[in-house]
Amino acid sequence: MTCKILIMPSYEDLATKIIDTGECTVCGACITACPDSHIKFIENKPKRPKRTMDCVSCHTCYDACYMLRHNLIKDIEGSTIGWGRKESIGLYRRAVVARTRDAGLLKECQDGGIATTLLLYALDSGIIDGALVVGKDNWAPVACIAKTRDEIILSAGAKYGVVPVLKELRAAVVDHGLSKICVVGSPCHIQSVRYLKYKDLPLASSVKLMVGLFCRENYEYACLAEKVRAKGMDIRHVDKLDVSDEFNIYAGRKKLSLPITDVKSCVPRHCLVCQDFAAELADIAVGSVGSPEGWSTVIIRTEEGERVFAGMEEKKFIETKEIADISDIKEIASRKKEKARQTEDTLRLKKQGLDKKEIAAILGITEERVSHRLDGTCAYSESDN
Ligand SMILES: Cc1cc2nc3c(=O)[nH]c(=O)nc-3n(C[C@H](O)[C@H](O)[C@H](O)COP(=O)(O)OP(=O)(O)OC[C@H]3O[C@@H](n4cnc5c(N)ncnc54)[C@H](O)[C@@H]3O)c2cc1C
Ligand code: SF4
Ligand code: SF4
Ligand code: SF4
Repeated sequence: MTCKILIMPSYEDLATKIIDTGECTVCGACITACPDSHIKFIENKPKRPKRTMDCVSCHTCYDACYMLRHNLIKDIEGSTIGWGRKESIGLYRRAVVARTRDAGLLKECQDGGIATTLLLYALDSGIIDGALVVGKDNWAPVACIAKTRDEIILSAGAKYGVVPVLKELRAAVVDHGLSKICVVGSPCHIQSVRYLKYKDLPLASSVKLMVGLFCRENYEYACLAEKVRAKGMDIRHVDKLDVSDEFNIYAGRKKLSLPITDVKSCVPRHCLVCQDFAAELADIAVGSVGSPEGWSTVIIRTEEGERVFAGMEEKKFIETKEIADISDIKEIASRKKEKARQTEDTLRLKKQGLDKKEIAAILGITEERVSHRLDGTCAYSESDN
């Protein structure tokens, strides 16, 4: 009789298949999942600094990675948001334009202050007892736990850079005793936390609400800081960053606008194949496109999202208007999906040994675009955005 030894996948397999290939979206789930805190956020990646005996019969971090099971996303969406025919911005119940009625708070926020107001309302009314948010250290994004109004307000505003939002989930539950958590994050963070809940990871049952931010792409912080420095500005003195048709940097009365082409080389590899613009798995998704300056576009997808949003309206914390035209948002979301599919095709053909010229001919695109798809460093045309 032969005896087969079943080798379970472990951290090494996660590293080989996802972390080292550039597919890792740095959501932080594997960091939080490790019961012995062996995985750390080092040089923008989840890394286990040294081999450890504890890993021998453990596969918890491997099980926690949604990128290894991306094919499940459809089922997860079906069981949480719904099964209907989907548009490029995902399924939703309601879409509006909204902003906070608190003029002081509005100044601290990125757009209409909806993410922050929602957290404040949910905390005050006991819907949540804390949130996973993103703070900053000289504009480098930092994953944080917010348990008070002040901590929530401190996290207002968008920061650009990869940030493992979910890495703080274990501390939020185990050290801070939180059991009703709201996660605010990019579409990738929201996909990851939905997956953890779908798999019944014990920590994830404490997540009760998910607020997703629209996201065309993200940028590596160090690369951005270098671009800003090259233009004679110190990122430490920056008051606000935002992305429209240009990458805008505000410091005091100064505004510096970099063409989007200048920051394309800062886009991490995983963003080039990401298809989710409008946080399709969030309870509520928030963004700036589709609304006037100082307002937010809000897409409400779940019953829980509807309940929380209606509560804010009832309390008159926010004002809302019907959305004038949602077609712009759908167009951006479709383009993101198409671009990601093209990048995946490009990478697949490259793996088969084809050169840039051959890939361009097969896909019917320019060689320049193939270059960008492969290494994210070539000139980018307007229509690419
Ligand atoms: C990387 C990135 C790319 C984006 N791209 C687009 C886009 O292409 N089009 C568009 O319409 N909108 C985009 N947004 C969303 C937009 O910038 C605003 O965040 C959104 O409109 C919410 O505005 P608000 O005033 O309601 O948020 P606020 O009330 O100011 O609250 C902001 C919230 O965002 C969280 N946050 C900040 N930075 C990050 C981060 N890096 N990762 C995860 N969470 C974070 C904070 O914790 C805070 O809770 C992007 C946001 C980010 C962070
Ligand atoms: S102990 Fe388990 S979860 Fe932690 S790094 Fe090792 S294999 Fe991963
Ligand atoms: S769980 Fe998240 S952070 Fe960890 S390897 Fe997977 S994608 Fe990366
Ligand atoms: S483009 Fe996708 S992978 Fe990149 S930060 Fe946005 S949601 Fe995450």
